[in-house]
Amino acid sequence: MPQPALHVESVLAGHDNIIWMIATGADSFAAVDPGEADPVSTFLTKKRSTLSHILITHHHGDHIGGVVPLRQRHGGLVIGAQADAHRLPPLDLAVSHNDRIPLGNSTAHVLAVPGHTTGHLAYHIEDALFSGDTLFGFGCGRLFEGTPEMMWTSLLQLRALPDDTRLFAGHEYTLANLAFAIALEPERLELTELRTKITATINTGQLSLPHPLSMEKSFNPFLRSDDPTLKSNIGVAHISPKDIFAELRERRNNF
Ligand SMILES: [Zn+2]
Repeated sequence: MPQPALHVESVLAGHDNIIWMIATGADSFAAVDPGEADPVSTFLTKKRSTLSHILITHHHGDHIGGVVPLRQRHGGLVIGAQADAHRLPPLDLAVSHNDRIPLGNSTAHVLAVPGHTTGHLAYHIEDALFSGDTLFGFGCGRLFEGTPEMMWTSLLQLRALPDDTRLFAGHEYTLANLAFAIALEPERLELTELRTKITATINTGQLSLPHPLSMEKSFNPFLRSDDPTLKSNIGVAHISPKDIFAELRERRNNF
């Protein structure tokens, strides 16, 4: 049976952060990674809505900067990783891998996805995946704290989600990541076609996100670290997927 589609809206903040607003009722929203408070307050006022929850994926300032003021202004249950409680704003609900938490009429499934940071969480809710800085459109987060093996294992977990899952990442790095994917495999014409289509979308002032996870599984090089075609296209032989992932991440860092 197809999953019901979660109602999600976006609020832009900071340099290039996206705060995803999940409808949790007729006039209430949950905010994912509010790096700033004011744009969320403006959104809530415009929608005449309340703030039911604040979901945190990880401790970086551009993802948590607005949590304390929003909690003071609007209330809302603050949810984040138990493992990172010491470096997150005060949590109302400290969660761990595999926890299931009620969110409006839905349930949020908590996934521990270490790599970008060691305490990074993703939230899988209905047909939506909130991946923070772990999985981006055609890319993945930098490894600030985790090892390549950790991140590869985390990405495998996300790749295992259904194809029709919609990916809501913490930043719109799509075009830069696509440029990297095209440089890796210039012979894949579908990638340049995607770039033309997505460039047109972004030029009209829209986000390209969310992306169907099926598209990421086919075209995100980091999710294809165990794909023999990618391996031969980039010219590395006889190394394990985690080593290929490490090589891709290294090349992306220097791209
Ligand atoms: Zn981050």
